[in-house]
Amino acid sequence: MRNVVIIGSGCAGLTAAIYAARANLQPLVIRGVEAGGQLTLTTLVENYPGFPKGVQGPELIEMMQKQATEFGAEFLEGNVSRADLSHRPFVLEVGETRLETKTLIIASGASARLLGLESERKLLGHGVSTCATCDGYFFRGKEVAVVGGGDTAAEEALFLTRYATKVNLIHRRDQLRASKILQDRLTRNEKIKPIWNSVVADVLDPAKGEVTGIKLKNTKTGEESLQACDGVFIGIGHTPNTSLFRGQLEMDEVGYLKTHDGAKTSVPGVFAAGDVQDKVYRQAITAAGSGCMAAIDAERFLEAEHG
Ligand code: NAP
Repeated sequence: MRNVVIIGSGCAGLTAAIYAARANLQPLVIRGVEAGGQLTLTTLVENYPGFPKGVQGPELIEMMQKQATEFGAEFLEGNVSRADLSHRPFVLEVGETRLETKTLIIASGASARLLGLESERKLLGHGVSTCATCDGYFFRGKEVAVVGGGDTAAEEALFLTRYATKVNLIHRRDQLRASKILQDRLTRNEKIKPIWNSVVADVLDPAKGEVTGIKLKNTKTGEESLQACDGVFIGIGHTPNTSLFRGQLEMDEVGYLKTHDGAKTSVPGVFAAGDVQDKVYRQAITAAGSGCMAAIDAERFLEAEHG
C-alpha cells in the first residue's frame, strides 16, 4: 500500500515527488508515455526563475528527477491502463502491476492535438511536427506551414521565421483566436503569410516518406488547392490526458480536471497538478507550483486521517 502515487513525470509530477518525498511519504511516480512531459520537447527555457542564462528543458527535468530520487521518490516506467477511484485505497493498473494507494496526484499533462489525417500520422516526425522549438531547426532555409489560429499556432509561426524562408499560417476561419500582441507580431512579420478559411485535407507525400506539400480545402467555397512546403506544424491546441478518469472525477467540457481549494479534485484524496488541470497558464513554473500544492494537500489529507 502506497501513501502517494503520482501519475506523470513532467514538471508538476516531479515537483510533487520532491515535496512528497521530503515529507517522508515515499512517493511512487508512474512515468507515463510522454515521460518528462513537455519540457523534454523544448530546447532553451528562459523564463524558469533561477536560471539567468536559461536552461535546457530536458536538463531541467533531469535535475528535478535527480532531486526527487535523492529524497527517496521511486519511479515506475509505464502507463496507467485502469484507475478505480470509487473507493479507498484507490487502485491503479500499470501493465501487469496492480497498485493500491491512499492518495493520488494526477499530473498526466496534456498532449498536442492532431488533425486526424492518415497522412499526418504517417509523416509525424518526417516533416510533420507538433513542436516548433524542437524541430524548427530542421527547416532552415525551407518553406513550412503552421495550422491553427490560437496562441500556440501564432507562437510556432513566429518562432519558425527564425529558420524558414516563408511560413504559411493555415486557419479555418478569417479571424485569429491568438492574443492581440501575437496577432500584431504576425502581421508585422513579412515571412508569415496567412491563408484564411482553409483546412488541411491531406499532407503529401507519405509514399516519399517526406512532406512535399499540403492539400488545402477552402471552408467557404469547398475549393481545393495545393501548397508546396517542406514541413507542417500542427498548432491546434492540446487535449488533457484524463480519459481514464471520465465519469470518476469532475472535469470541464474539454476534459481538464476541475480543482478547488488548492489541488483538490472532486474525490477526496485525489489531487491534480499541472497542465491536466490548467488550460490558462500552462507554464513550467505554474506546473511546478501546482505540483507543490498537490503534494502539500496530499500530506495534510493523510495527516488529518491518521492524526
Ligand atoms: P486554442 O486557443 O484552443 O486554439 C486552437 C486553434 O486551432 C484555434 O484557432 C482553432 O480554430 C484551431 N483548431 C482547432 N481544431 C482544429 C482542427 N481540427 N482543424 C483546424 N484548426 C483547428 O489552443 P492554443 O492555441 O493551444 O491555446 C490554448 C491556451 O493556451 C489558450 O488559453 C492560450 O491563450 C494559451 N497559450 C498561451 C500562450 C502565450 O500566452 N504565450 C502560448 C500558447 C498557449 P478556431 O479559432 O476556429 O476555433
